[in-house]
Amino acid sequence: IVEARGIHKHFGPLHILKGVDLVVAERELVFVIGPSGSGKSTLLRCLNRLEEPSGGSITVDGIDLLDRRTDVNRVRQRIGMVFQSFNLYPHMTALGNVALALRKVQGKTRAEAEARARAALDRVHLADRADHHPAQLSGGQQQRVAIARAIALEPRVMLFDEPTSALDPELVGGVLQVMRELREDGMTMVVVSHEMAFARAAADRVIFMADGRIVEQGPPAQVFGAPQQERTRAFLGQVE
Ligand code: ATP
Ligand code: MG
Repeated sequence: IVEARGIHKHFGPLHILKGVDLVVAERELVFVIGPSGSGKSTLLRCLNRLEEPSGGSITVDGIDLLDRRTDVNRVRQRIGMVFQSFNLYPHMTALGNVALALRKVQGKTRAEAEARARAALDRVHLADRADHHPAQLSGGQQQRVAIARAIALEPRVMLFDEPTSALDPELVGGVLQVMRELREDGMTMVVVSHEMAFARAAADRVIFMADGRIVEQGPPAQVFGAPQQERTRAFLGQVE
């Protein structure tokens, strides 16, 4: 579904991504790990054009993301993104937050948007919180609203950038459970996270990035159980 080849990214004099290849198959859950500053977030942001790569090619569903003629907003609808910070509108209810994009981006009527938003909230087990404002929800619930907002647009692939890092430990499980269910429903996902136990249990493939490059990748049992590269071993030794 996603095919990124030779992605480079410079910020001024800094060379942040140094030729990253990432091909994600339909229904695959790819986990990206690596030290702080290695370029994980930058890579995800390039995949939906929040950042413009300085070089390389990216196609999503065969559509060239970097072609000037491509309507980036249309492609971006096919790529859902969930961040560490939930970025919900505080003055709107959970339902309002989820319905907003459907109305604005997809031009749905209010009734249609709200029906779809309710279905999305149901998928993240928050049907009974639809009328609550973000301040009345826990961090984990807010993050699930953010996930509902993304899946309501029916993306082809979901990108998660440290979705549980801002949460109290007891709230992490509910978010991971929703991600697990999305995966079981066949969603294609790229996840940057430090939740190694989740990666072991749920990922099809683990990618270890360091210093703007993919150092090593493979099934979780291999990358965690028998890492080939010294840098991978050193990193895993620190985090586990
Ligand atoms: P973390 O685990 O801390 O989230 P990361 O692997 O996600 O790290 P990135 O956020 O992709 O790392 O950042 C990679 C490098 O790019 C960092 O050195 C960062 O300072 C730099 N960087 C990111 N965005 C910008 C920007 N807009 N302008 C300049 N430098 C940037
Ligand atoms: Mg990051």
